[in-house]
Amino acid sequence: MGGRSWQIGRIFGIPLRIHISWFLVFALVSWSLARHYFPAVLTHRFAWQYWSLGVTAALLLFASVLVHELGHCLVAMRYRIPIAQITLFIFGGMAQIKREAPTPKAEFLIAIAGPIVSIVLGLCFWVLAELPGAPPALVAVSEHLRNINLMLAIFNLVPGYPLDGGRVLRAGLWAWSKNFHQATRYSARVGQGFAALLMLFGVYDVVAGLEIGGVWFLLIGAFLYTAAHSTHRQVSFQESLLGLRVGDVMTPDVVMLGAGLTLDEAVDKYFLRFGFGGFPVVDGGRLVGMLSLKELKAIPRERWRVLTVGEVMVPYGFYSEIHPDEPITAAMERMFHDDRSRLVVMDSEKVLGLVTRSGIARFLDLRQR
Ligand SMILES: [Zn+2]
Repeated sequence: MGGRSWQIGRIFGIPLRIHISWFLVFALVSWSLARHYFPAVLTHRFAWQYWSLGVTAALLLFASVLVHELGHCLVAMRYRIPIAQITLFIFGGMAQIKREAPTPKAEFLIAIAGPIVSIVLGLCFWVLAELPGAPPALVAVSEHLRNINLMLAIFNLVPGYPLDGGRVLRAGLWAWSKNFHQATRYSARVGQGFAALLMLFGVYDVVAGLEIGGVWFLLIGAFLYTAAHSTHRQVSFQESLLGLRVGDVMTPDVVMLGAGLTLDEAVDKYFLRFGFGGFPVVDGGRLVGMLSLKELKAIPRERWRVLTVGEVMVPYGFYSEIHPDEPITAAMERMFHDDRSRLVVMDSEKVLGLVTRSGIARFLDLRQR
């Protein structure tokens, strides 16, 4: 989500943020309630009364969305899953839960908590609306919030990821197949299908009557589609990494640099000739370090004649090596963590090859075709 957001406080220790797009939808909702909904259900009031009811109902709507998200968060916290933040934005609320649920049961309970909260809220507003002797303004506000909360529950129960119903579906498939990745892929596919339907419906609405509702369906559909699509891709990517070892993707026959070469020589005879971004450095047959374009670029050109590879390289340390039997995910984590783009594959002091970020990317790209 691009654009600015502000932290406005904490609830149960969870930072609550408001995204800039929230103000737009808040204004829109208040306006449509004050100009259309309340004048239709409550007659003979002043404009300021409609506006204060509109703003109140809009605030209660976002409070309802927030309580829905808190429902997810409190169950997640019971499973000791940390929550990064809750953000209110143009399409409602979003709780950023830091880890995936540990079990299908936890996934199910975290997902279902939100819609259950919305149903309970809907029923509470229903009771308020039916209270004998309730003033008409209270009835109008309560009826609106009853409808909104029940609709929120129903919409969120659609079984397409990333909606709550999609997470429930994923929990079910996960429990049944014992395969988390596959369960995620299926529920994301259903999510993409539902999102596509929403967009189609939106296009139909716009073409048929140029309604604002149609634009809304289009936007929500596009948002959900993108989310489902990127989840699907991410999971396919993670799956294609499963079972891969460093030895499967490494480049064998490594070309190595002598520590005594000048940088000029290294560039002419190695970097330009082989086109690699980095080389292991050896001195007297032993691996002593690694020299990549990153270190070269930091040295002014006129000094390339006098400095040697050994003086500029990153000295060899435990963290630059990896064993060929380690999983590829371990190599990627180490590269990411230490901000390196290549590791030396070694088995008992012997250099077997190199594993690089671009090499892994190329390998996966070819495998996915
Ligand atoms: Zn939810």
